[in-house]
Amino acid sequence: MRMPILDEVERKLARSERITDEDALALFAVQDVVALGRLAHRERAKRHGNKVYTRTDLNVNHTNICAADCGFCAFFAKSGSEKAYLMTLDEIEEKAKAAAKVGVNEWHVVGGLTPECDLAYFEEMFRRLKKVSPQAHIQGMTGVEVDFLAKREKLSITETLRRLRAAGLDSIPGGGAEVFHPEARKRMMATKIAGDRFLQVHEEAHALGIPTNVSILYGHVETAEERVDHLRRVREMQDRTRGFNAFLGLAWNPENTELHAKTGAMGPSAFDTLRMVSIARLYLDNVSHIKLPWVTVGKPMAQVALHFGVDDIGGAAFEERILQAAGGKTWAFVKKEDLTPLITSAGFVPEYAFGSYHPIPRELTPLAVA
Ligand code: SF4
Repeated sequence: MRMPILDEVERKLARSERITDEDALALFAVQDVVALGRLAHRERAKRHGNKVYTRTDLNVNHTNICAADCGFCAFFAKSGSEKAYLMTLDEIEEKAKAAAKVGVNEWHVVGGLTPECDLAYFEEMFRRLKKVSPQAHIQGMTGVEVDFLAKREKLSITETLRRLRAAGLDSIPGGGAEVFHPEARKRMMATKIAGDRFLQVHEEAHALGIPTNVSILYGHVETAEERVDHLRRVREMQDRTRGFNAFLGLAWNPENTELHAKTGAMGPSAFDTLRMVSIARLYLDNVSHIKLPWVTVGKPMAQVALHFGVDDIGGAAFEERILQAAGGKTWAFVKKEDLTPLITSAGFVPEYAFGSYHPIPRELTPLAVA
C-alpha cells in the first residue's frame, strides 16, 4: 500500500513547497522505493533533463599516513608502519603525465593528515599538475585536510585557501563530512574535527568564491534522525552561501575497518542507497547535483540510482586507493570511455564536466573518440 507521506510530499513538490525534516524522516521509512524514486526522478529531470555528469579524473591519494585513526576507515596507516606510503612530487608528476596522455583532465587530490605534507608540498604539487595540463581541473583537499594544514602552518583557514587557490586549486571535494551529528561521530569513531568546523571550512571557501561539494558517509551506525540532521545543516548553509555544487552519497564499505569489527555494521543495502539519494534530491532543493560515485557502490547500483534522483556518477577514478583499502569491488584503472555505455544504456546522455560542473571542451572528452 502506498504510504500517505508519498502523497503529502508529492503535493508539496507540486506547489514548490519545501519538504520538512519530519517529511524526510518519514521518507526514510518508506519501503516502496520505486514510488519514492519516481518523485526524486521528476525533480532531477526538472533540473538536468536526461543529462548524467561524469569526468575523466585521476585520483591522487598522495599519502595514507594519518594522524587520525577513524574507526570506519580502512585507508589510514601510522607513520613508519609497513603499510604507510607517501608519494614524492616527482612520482605524482610522472603519474599525472601518463594520465594526461590517456585523456585525464581532472586531478582529485585527497589523502591522510600528516605533518610531513606541508603547505609548500601542496603548492608545488598543484603548480606541477597545472604545468602538466594547464586546462585540467584540480579538485582537492577535503575540509578536514584544509583544517589540518591551516593548523600546521598556523594560518587562518581563509589564508590557507587563498594560498592553495593561488597555486592552482579549483574546487574542494565533498569527502570528510561523514555524519555531522556529534553523537553519530562518537559512535562511528570519527577521530577528526567536528561537523561544525568542517562546515566552517566550506563556508570560508564559499566566501572566497571557491566551489565545494559536501557528502554523507551512510550505512553504518547512524540513525535516520542523524541523516536528516545532516541534510538540514547542508540545506541551511546552502541557503546562506549557495556555494555547494553537489551533495554526494558515500556508501560505507565495512571491510578491514575497526567499526565493522566492533559493531558488526555491514554497510548500506541497495534499498538504503536508493532511499538516501532519493531523499537527498527531494530535501536539498537548493543543491543542484546529487552525486553517487560509482566507485562506492559499484556500477550496477550506480546505474539504477540514475533513476532515483542521481545526476552524477563520478569519474573514471584512475588509481583510486581509499575505497580499495576497504574492499571496494572497483577497478584501479578504468578505460576512459568506460562510463559512457553505463550512462547511455540507462537512457541518459553523458555530459563531461569538470568537478565544478563547467563543461569540458568536447575535444578533451572520450566522446571525441567514441
Ligand atoms: S577518514 Fe580520513 S582522517 Fe579519518 S583516518 Fe581515514 S584518512 Fe585519516
